[in-house]
Amino acid sequence: MDRDKALRIVKKQLTEKRYVHTIGVMETAIELADRFHVDRDKAELAAIFHDYAKFRNKEEMRQCIIDQKMPHDLLLHHEELWHAPVGAYLVKKEVGISDEEILEAIRCHTSGKINMSQLDKVIYVADYIEPNRDFPGVEVVRDSAKTSLDIAVVQAMKNTILFLLTRNQPIYPNTFHAYNDMMMKVK
Ligand code: GDP
Ligand code: FE
Ligand code: FE
Ligand code: FE
Repeated sequence: MDRDKALRIVKKQLTEKRYVHTIGVMETAIELADRFHVDRDKAELAAIFHDYAKFRNKEEMRQCIIDQKMPHDLLLHHEELWHAPVGAYLVKKEVGISDEEILEAIRCHTSGKINMSQLDKVIYVADYIEPNRDFPGVEVVRDSAKTSLDIAVVQAMKNTILFLLTRNQPIYPNTFHAYNDMMMKVK
């Protein structure tokens, strides 16, 4: 699918602000893909569709998680986590994208997971550092991403976990598993 068609499809699913974020993720993901020798067409499509389900209603997402037998522990955690796996499912079903590498990058873009592929990491980091993001510490991650994708992933995960701790939010197990896995790889 070409970029313009993909953008036209996703634009209908998003608010203006979220669409601008998506363009930022797309441009950043392509840059990272070129830098770290990842398939740029897959990075482009995964980025365009990564937040496809961001504005689906909570009950629709809950039902989808149950019907499609997604990990049931998702339902015990914040619904912010749901748009990633539900998005992967809907992008396949409604948009017709069947490339499993693209779908997996969408599926794990919020929590991460163990053994992330290079494409998974590109999308995870691009989502975190795209130019419209303004998290505390994002500049350090942007800098790291110029030389090491793995270090950028670990820093982004660490910042996310710290942020959740300060908000007294429970942390989804995959978020910890992903962090531990990447931490041991960069040591
Ligand atoms: P976005 O969709 O572009 O805003 O970004 P993400 O999909 O990466 O993250 C969406 C939200 O999920 C962010 O507010 C994260 O802080 C939050 N999030 C990520 N991991 C976890 C987790 O383990 N638990 C909880 N409760 N929230 C998380
Ligand atoms: Fe997201
Ligand atoms: Fe993210
Ligand atoms: Fe996003």
